[in-house]
Amino acid sequence: MAFENIVREEVEIGRNNQFRGSCEMKRINYRKLAFDRYPPVCAHCGFGIADVLEVCHLDCQRSNNDIGNLVVLCPTCHKMHDLDLISTETILMMRDRPKVVRWAKRMKAAGKKSALSRRQTCAARRRKWRLAGLKAAATRAHNRLA
Ligand SMILES: [Zn+2]
Repeated sequence: MAFENIVREEVEIGRNNQFRGSCEMKRINYRKLAFDRYPPVCAHCGFGIADVLEVCHLDCQRSNNDIGNLVVLCPTCHKMHDLDLISTETILMMRDRPKVVRWAKRMKAAGKKSALSRRQTCAARRRKWRLAGLKAAATRAHNRLA
């Protein structure tokens, strides 16, 4: 190989490394940006293993590292967003929505259910004591006859 070619190749490798290096810098940069701003959970499903989480560019422009364009997602939700199975509006809404747990929605019937089971328990207890009383009376009657 001619010296010139070797030099050219070195330059190419150098450029590539530089290119890769700057990408790496950006990657670390926007990951840090997103994790500084948003909680370390998937904004859509709540998955929370930080090492597995990814940072998604909502407009799919990797150069747009504006904090509003970033969102922390798990790999599944990230892919689903990129394929438009989850809309950007949904991701945005989920990202900016306060994560407040409200059990009321799930526990609607809890009061009624517990009242019913309380009634059933009391009835069972009364039956049990009534039967015990009857048995005791029968035993007393039996002993009186004996
Ligand atoms: Zn997810």
